[in-house]
Amino acid sequence: MSEQSTTSGHLVRAVNVSKSFGENEVLKGVDMTVDRREVVCLLGPSGSGKTTFLRLINQMETLTGGRIWVGDELIGFVERNGRLHVRKDKDIARQRSRIGMVFQRFNLFPHMTALENVMEAPVHVKRMQRAKARQEALELLEQVGLSDRARYYPAQLSGGQQQRVAIARALAMRPELMLFDEPTSALDPELVGEVLGVMRSLAKEGTTMIVVTHEVGFAREVADRVVFMDGGVVVEEGSPDEVLLRPREARTRTFLSRVK
Ligand code: ADP
Repeated sequence: MSEQSTTSGHLVRAVNVSKSFGENEVLKGVDMTVDRREVVCLLGPSGSGKTTFLRLINQMETLTGGRIWVGDELIGFVERNGRLHVRKDKDIARQRSRIGMVFQRFNLFPHMTALENVMEAPVHVKRMQRAKARQEALELLEQVGLSDRARYYPAQLSGGQQQRVAIARALAMRPELMLFDEPTSALDPELVGEVLGVMRSLAKEGTTMIVVTHEVGFAREVADRVVFMDGGVVVEEGSPDEVLLRPREARTRTFLSRVK
């Protein structure tokens, strides 16, 4: 079987993934799968490698070891004439366009309105006609509850509104997979709910999502599966009830007693 076809039906499959920054081994052999339409919440103490794992999937970092497939493609490599080659920038851009990512900080383009932020990638990456991109962007802003803010600049929006624009912008490329990296951790507490609400509705619609979060309540309610990481390894995983209510591992129990 070629390496390209070994996702075994999963949308994401990570096998023995390792990542070091110099001497610092941040991920130490992580195996993980995510199925289509599945919501996986990634929990764990700060520094356990969760963000790095998302960044590897999105090719913002390169693997030290192991393999990650997204769909039928091996991340970071391309098969030509039966041999694996390191991907070129244009291959990476194409692979990334299948994945939407929402960061802790709502890094919107400050000189563009909410609408222009959402239109940007479809117009410049997908070469979509402006009128069509505009129509789709307006629909996405409606979906995240911001129809009336289309013409506002990021500085004129609250943190929660900016983060909802960031979600709409990520969705604009119609990604197969959405990655969320602690999307509510930079928000004032009263703004967390509106962002989690949008994520909850995306999950209900069957969006495939990997969510790094400290929001245990959200994970319990929305996740199909919870993965607990610590020290660069997956400590345990299972249904939200299994991991969050009846954790098997002492490290999981310690973490949960701190965040709950
Ligand atoms: P988490 O998301 O679980 O808090 P991270 O993946 O952000 O964990 O970080 C794991 C470790 O990797 C930390 O020790 C962090 O300092 C280190 N790290 C992350 N990115 C880099 C980088 N670009 N260069 C060096 N070290 C990094």
